[in-house]
Amino acid sequence: MATVAKQKKWMFRGEGNCSLVLANCEEKSVYRFPKKNHWGKENCPDAQSKADRIHMELQSVVDYMTNIMQPLLGSYYVVLPVLVAIPDGLSEEAEREVISSRPAHRKGKEVQSYTVEPVSKSALILPDLSYVIGYEVSPTTGATISVEIKPKKAFMHSNESCSQSKNLERFQVCKFCMHQRLKAKEGQWPKTSRYCPLDLFSGDIERMCHSLLALADTPQNNFRICLNGEEVHGAWRKHDFNIVLETLFGPCTNGHNNGNSRPKNLQLLDLIIKALLSVPESNDGRTDVPLVEFPAQYCQNSSYVQQQQKHQLQTGKKFTLVKGCVLERVLSVQRMDDLDIHGVFPLYQKLEEHLQHHSEESSSWCLDGPYDYESWLGSCEKCEVQTCGNNCNLEKQDQITEAVDKVKRFLISKTMQDCSIMVALQRVSEKTSSKDSYLTDPQGRLYRFSVSIIDLDPKPFNKILTYYRQDAKISKAYREAVDKMQ
Ligand code: ATP
Ligand code: MG
Ligand code: ZN
Ligand code: MG
Repeated sequence: MATVAKQKKWMFRGEGNCSLVLANCEEKSVYRFPKKNHWGKENCPDAQSKADRIHMELQSVVDYMTNIMQPLLGSYYVVLPVLVAIPDGLSEEAEREVISSRPAHRKGKEVQSYTVEPVSKSALILPDLSYVIGYEVSPTTGATISVEIKPKKAFMHSNESCSQSKNLERFQVCKFCMHQRLKAKEGQWPKTSRYCPLDLFSGDIERMCHSLLALADTPQNNFRICLNGEEVHGAWRKHDFNIVLETLFGPCTNGHNNGNSRPKNLQLLDLIIKALLSVPESNDGRTDVPLVEFPAQYCQNSSYVQQQQKHQLQTGKKFTLVKGCVLERVLSVQRMDDLDIHGVFPLYQKLEEHLQHHSEESSSWCLDGPYDYESWLGSCEKCEVQTCGNNCNLEKQDQITEAVDKVKRFLISKTMQDCSIMVALQRVSEKTSSKDSYLTDPQGRLYRFSVSIIDLDPKPFNKILTYYRQDAKISKAYREAVDKMQ
């Protein structure tokens, strides 16, 4: 009797600093397991209390996504995870099955030992976003390509003290590009990234295409392409792009491009841009955090900007992101912070000092949860009214309230600076439903697609100190690099 190879139950999907994400092939869902040393760090005398603590922290993630992130971004983009209790041994069994497919640099960190917190009895379950979700009817065949972009901070705070002239303000260097100098100094990646977030969020198709090419060329941990959930292009597994292109567009015969003179890699990027700029028919996100018409920003470090003649940019064409597309949502929520770390850090210190004398007030501020709508987004509305008034005359309590609001906006913005956008694409021969929307390319080929935002964990209040120190390190490394060049 022929033996049939046992199908794997678990497959590796990805991992970050705090979670290991594995697909359960039987359930067709994804488990996000808490990694060691990142959860339940509060003093817990025994394993049970640590497990309880981790469960509570994961519940906080669900609350934050439900009450803050989903209202801001919309339920089309934010799929809520389900917190589940897992049986003993499940995470170890799952990890054993995927050990060979984990990236080498991650495995090295844990020297072959298990990476999931062994004490944890909980995990978050999500749909597998390497596949297209949300369609009425799914085709039974056809490979799926998924593209993950971790865009990082996509705007520059205007820095009054630096910008003596208007032109200077337009041509500063963005945080991401500055951070690259520190990463180079610390030897974190083999190659400096050529990506600049401001280009991706520009709404200018040519500039966006340039930034996606840069991401594909130097992905670091900001870009990844998977084929049926398995990484085919990313920081550590740089395969030939062709496998992705052939899957979507068919084999390239005799150098002909199926009647299209545009190279196939650019055709793929065109599709990704279409998905990033598409507006879902029904998305119920709050619209009162709008992308106010900000002037186009250019980063001095961007290779696109450097390629262009400066006079062209200054007389520049104006682009805005279409309202309701994923990039506009992400950027709007990032923009909720108007202070940046330099403005927020003194508020953080003020609150810390106040808490030393009034520790009882801490719980009513909800800075580390509970994450309910009223205390997080309700107060942001209130904050807007307050900042219109004359701050100097506010009583101390009002100043504290305003500081709490500003800090919350900062923390929300930080979540959005760390999230990932997942785009899944599958070519189909025909529309299976008139209700669903499809992408079409210039040849008339059809694609089902979905766009989601993942990794929406709340940032703890005391992380502001870490951000402050990190920012100082970034500035120092940047100044050193600039000095060297002069
Ligand atoms: P970071 O270090 O960026 O904070 P993290 O530890 O919070 O990351 P996530 O970003 O949530 O973890 O997940 C790690 C990776 O797992 C993602 O970058 C993505 O590649 C993959 N992933 C997460 N959720 C899903 C999902 N629902 N479907 C498919 N892949 C997923
Ligand atoms: Mg992540
Ligand atoms: Zn930049
Ligand atoms: Mg994260």
